[in-house]
Order: sequence, then structure tokens, then C-alpha cells
Amino acid sequence: MKNITIAIDGFSSTGKSTLAKQLAKELAYVYVDTGAMYRAVALFAMNNSLIKADFFDKKALIDSLPKIQLEFKFNSDLGFAEMYLNGENVEKQIRTIEVSSFVSKVAEVSEVRSKLVEQQQEMGKNKAIVMDGRDIGTVVFPDAELKIFMTASAETRAQRRFDELQQKGDNVSYEEVLKNVVERDYIDTHREDSPLVIADDAIEIDNSYLNREEQFAAVLELVNEVVKTV
Ligand code: C5P
Repeated sequence: MKNITIAIDGFSSTGKSTLAKQLAKELAYVYVDTGAMYRAVALFAMNNSLIKADFFDKKALIDSLPKIQLEFKFNSDLGFAEMYLNGENVEKQIRTIEVSSFVSKVAEVSEVRSKLVEQQQEMGKNKAIVMDGRDIGTVVFPDAELKIFMTASAETRAQRRFDELQQKGDNVSYEEVLKNVVERDYIDTHREDSPLVIADDAIEIDNSYLNREEQFAAVLELVNEVVKTV
């Protein structure tokens, strides 16, 4: 079977990473969560007091970029790769609501984007990869053989993220999560550099009313169709 590149884009909390992980496992492909990379850069900015509520020293972040080393290391117990920032496992820290509240501002910075995009393209140069994010089918891999764009209502997505955070013991209200989802949607779709848009050749999946299994089966069928034609 020929190896392909699978790009999964869409709004936050649409279950992109769950689907991408399932696909990568089924196909024995590499899975890359590009959101984790932007989150790690946001965490770096927070830890170095470069970003706070109503304050963002963009220039200092740009100057610090050479000092930011990002790496994915596969954790065989979990079955997926975890994010390391300058040698430290930050997988848990990058999933907090604080990081979520700053990440889209950091992701607007072109210099940040070009550094991460370059790293992502390098990771995918041999294909056999499932990458999820916001600009994978449009900017990172415009020639990807299969592009999926995932959507669901903001309320459905906020409820999913809220349940996840509650399970982790994060004491956050549903309203706060919904506000964050709506804010990130706005920044992600309105930024100048690589805004979140649906690629012309992407297949849109609204999973508000689809369960995980139905969605996975539908996408796997698409993969099998695409693989036959390459
Ligand atoms: O996918 P996730 O919700 O973890 O992504 C966090 C944030 O990182 C997004 O809201 C977006 O601002 C940014 N992002 C991006 N481009 C990507 C992946 C994520 O701008 N390819």
C-alpha cells in the first residue's frame, strides 16, 4: 500500500487529535499534533513572562525563538508522542486553560509560524504521516493526498473540552471554556498569516452528531479510496 500524507484541519476541540491518533495507529503512520507545538511556544512565553493578560512582548519572543527547542518523543505506554520543550516533558502543562487562553496570540506571529511549519514539513517529508492543526492542508502540506476539515458547533466543542478538563481535575466553568473556544475561533480565522480556512480540496466533516466510531469508519473509507488512486 502506498504511503500518503493526511492533513486534518479544523476548529478547536472538534476531535481532530482523537481521529488523527486512531488513523495513525490503524495505518502505522506517524501522528503529529501541531497544536502541541504552538502550545509549547505559548508555555515558553508564559514561563518567561513574555505574555500575560493585556501584555505580549512579541519582539522578545521572536528574539528567543532560537532558544526554543521542540521535540516529540513516543511514549509506548500511552501509544502516542509527547511534547518536550527544551528537554522537559510539558505534555500536561500545555493542556491547561491558561495555555489555551494565550496560544492563539502566539500563533499569530509569523516568525513563530515559519519556524514551526519548517519543522512540520521536515517531519512529513517521507509521507506516512497524519498531521492535525489549522493550516496543514493549506500551508504545511498543500499537496497532501487526503485533506479533512472538521467542524462542530461551538457549544458541542466547549462541552467536550469542559468534560476533558473536569476529568483531569481542572476547576474551570463551562462558560469559561466556551468563551475560550469562541475567542480562539475568532483569532484563528481572522489572523493575517495562514488563517484557518477550508482548503478547496478538503472534505468537510461536521461531527456534532457523529460518534467516534462512525467518524473513524467514514474517514478510513476515504483513506482506502485515496490510496487506490495514488
Ligand atoms: O489544536 P489545538 O487546539 O491544541 O491548537 C491550539 C492553538 O494553536 C489553536 O487555537 C491555534 O491558535 C494554534 N494552531 C495554529 N496552527 C496549527 C495548530 C494550532 O495556529 N497548525
